[in-house]
Amino acid sequence: MKNHDVAGRMADSPSREGLREAVRRQILSYTGSDPDRAGVRDVYRGLAFALREYLAEKWIETQRAYYESGAKRIYYLSLEFLVGRSLMSNILSLGLEDDARAVVESYGHSLDDIEEMEWDAGLGNGGLGRLASCFMDSLATQGFAAYGYGIRYDFGIFWQVIENGAQTERPDNWMRFGCPWQFERQGHLYPVQFGGSVRILHDEQGNERRIWVGSEHVLAVACDMLVPGYRNGKVINMRLWNAKASREFALDYFQRGDYVGAVEEKAKSENISKVLYPDDSRVQGQELRLKQQYFFVAATIQDIVRRSRKQSGGLAGMPDRVAVQLNDTHPAIAIPELMRVLVDEEELNWDDAWSICVRTFAYTNHTILPEALEHWPVETMQRVLPRHMEIIYEINARFLQLVRRLHPGDDALAARLSIIDEDHGRRVRMAHLALVGSHMVNGVSALHTDLLRSSVFQDFHDMYPRRFVNMTNGVTPRRWMLQANPLLSDLITEAIGPGWETDLARLRDLRPLAEDAQFRQRWREVKFENKKRLSAYMLPRARVLAPPEFMFDVHVKRIHEYKRQLLNVLHVVTLYNRLRGAPPGECPLPCVPRVAIFGGKAAPAYAMAKLTIRLIHAVASVVNGDPHVSNYLRVAFVPNYCVSNAEKIIPGTDLSEQISTAGTEASGTGNMKFAMNGALTIGTMDGATVEMAKEIGDEHFFIFGLHTPEVAALKARGYDPRRIYDADRELRLAVDMIANGHFSPREPGLFEPIRQSWLDDGDKYMVMADYRSYVEAQERAAHLYQDREEWTRVSILNTAGMGYFSSDRTIAQYAREIWGAEPVTGSGARKK
Ligand SMILES: *Cc1c(COP(=O)(O)O)cnc(C)c1O
Repeated sequence: MKNHDVAGRMADSPSREGLREAVRRQILSYTGSDPDRAGVRDVYRGLAFALREYLAEKWIETQRAYYESGAKRIYYLSLEFLVGRSLMSNILSLGLEDDARAVVESYGHSLDDIEEMEWDAGLGNGGLGRLASCFMDSLATQGFAAYGYGIRYDFGIFWQVIENGAQTERPDNWMRFGCPWQFERQGHLYPVQFGGSVRILHDEQGNERRIWVGSEHVLAVACDMLVPGYRNGKVINMRLWNAKASREFALDYFQRGDYVGAVEEKAKSENISKVLYPDDSRVQGQELRLKQQYFFVAATIQDIVRRSRKQSGGLAGMPDRVAVQLNDTHPAIAIPELMRVLVDEEELNWDDAWSICVRTFAYTNHTILPEALEHWPVETMQRVLPRHMEIIYEINARFLQLVRRLHPGDDALAARLSIIDEDHGRRVRMAHLALVGSHMVNGVSALHTDLLRSSVFQDFHDMYPRRFVNMTNGVTPRRWMLQANPLLSDLITEAIGPGWETDLARLRDLRPLAEDAQFRQRWREVKFENKKRLSAYMLPRARVLAPPEFMFDVHVKRIHEYKRQLLNVLHVVTLYNRLRGAPPGECPLPCVPRVAIFGGKAAPAYAMAKLTIRLIHAVASVVNGDPHVSNYLRVAFVPNYCVSNAEKIIPGTDLSEQISTAGTEASGTGNMKFAMNGALTIGTMDGATVEMAKEIGDEHFFIFGLHTPEVAALKARGYDPRRIYDADRELRLAVDMIANGHFSPREPGLFEPIRQSWLDDGDKYMVMADYRSYVEAQERAAHLYQDREEWTRVSILNTAGMGYFSSDRTIAQYAREIWGAEPVTGSGARKK
């Protein structure tokens, strides 16, 4: 039984013959040549365009239904959408798997080969961008009148290539062969301006009006990517803006006879949507980044205001008709922008405009790492957005007035709460702007939200306790189970019946099956197949042979010190030393052959992250090259970790590494994808992993390390990493080998900065402190892995406990507690 066709094709999906005809037509009109001789790329494009046409029809119907229902509109503003590929996900949502397969096979290609033709849409860095894409899927699937807004970067997240064991970055020219899923809406253009100055005018009544006259102009062109709901006939869109030079502006130059200057200026303004900034959890603070933020916000607010005007209640009724969710502070400039539109252009009074703003916006915080909190120098803001700087000052003045009224004389409190940081060269604290200008702020896991309340934003919490809510992240089971792991999905459907894909809590029905030896056998076979597939995928890429009988111990995510890939490397070196210390051919207990699999991109300017990639390769080369050791231990680095290779890696994982320093990972979503696919987790009590352990049961988890309060207490008490190093022989040996060039004989000092960060610079992420506890947790994991039946039982219980972590649950919670929105019922299909 094929899981994907349990629900069958939807009533009005194209028939197989209809699809066949549409694909043929599209190939003909695209290639202009004989469809019977179409190559694999032509068939991919033909199929994609055929599906796009169908999605467009459904999109029109959906939009009509939303319009007629008067439902509250949800706008999800995000500078990142990590979409990945769309072909398979669209096919599954439309229920067309068997038909698509039959059609492409009639051209002599397999659907798998066709799938590989698609380039990932990597318009995001990592978790934050991928969350936005999971949310789009859940919003569509639950039938919310929702829109994603972002930027259509010409270049997404860089393509990572490994050369001589180090990362190099290649531009991600993802639209080289076009992107068949987009519609450019040439008619949907909005002007956006920058720079210039603020003019003060007086109207007939003598009221002052402030009008911003920019010195730089650019047009935002809408480009829509359609997102179908899962088998519900609904299609929503992400509207991604592209910067185009403004025609009038160029004309002005041309009239002055400066032809070359005009062309240069045109190229410069189009740079705004050129490239995604490749920094995850670190801000760089370039002016172009601020321009990107404003560019996308200004176009989006114009689109929202245009649509809101048509809704009942007009702009005053906006908060009842519209909810705007800010994905991190990246779009927070939307708050002063909406104020500017309402006050300067619509001529509302300040208080009415402010009330509309606060009730419309809500803000999601994604991190408490200080290096990730955005703050723009006042001087930059003034230069790029002079009117917004005035508005921010006004917002702040009124806010601080309130603070002083509530806490007279407490200047320190006012300084801490102020939107302007006066201590670091006058900066706008974007998180404070977002907190003041929103009616709700949410963290992304229970632990993270508690930390927002009790530490970073404690003063705000004291002032607005009801503003803080938790929305634990989730991921979409359509992509991360159905699509990525068809074998497991089919087995689950066979066991508990269909419907769990949209009601993930039903996975709990798997629990009793964990006791069924026959079911365990089948579960194990599925994992083994997925490991074989992963092994074949890795061989040419990581150039390591990973036998599927080995334990696959996987650590894939952005490379960052707080995520502690280095702790994992210390464990690998420890295993290596134990193997070397054992008599030849013997394996120290508990003897479990394993492949340590790594993957992840380092921000190009992040030296320690790049050095970590070099260390992993250096260790891999020594470990894999020692025949004595490599019978039991291998190390592999899968280059260019991205959504499409995550879909291959995750289903083949036995052990999932989620080992960030407690209190640093806001939620994590990789952790969820692994556990849904039957991996066991070795992890710290951090982010949403805490909640996963609670849902699944601590006893089915390998938890280790300091907890958040212990990290804080140890730091307060005076943490001495050197003492731990001195006292632990195995740790000392591993650290010394890394520092002394055992893994880099030709460059012995290469990894010295790593030793230094641990022993001389305070070991900010407590690697020394958690080492021993981590090694012991790894021993527990190895021990359990030797008991195949027990491991499989726990694997089943992991999947069974993951129902809570569907993004459907998260979205339903946002809708209820933040947006006050309900799904739209009714189809919008034209009555015949
Ligand atoms: C899910 C995902 C992430 C986030 O992973 P974390 O382990 O939560 O950091 C990053 N990149 C890709 C490609 C993903 O699919």
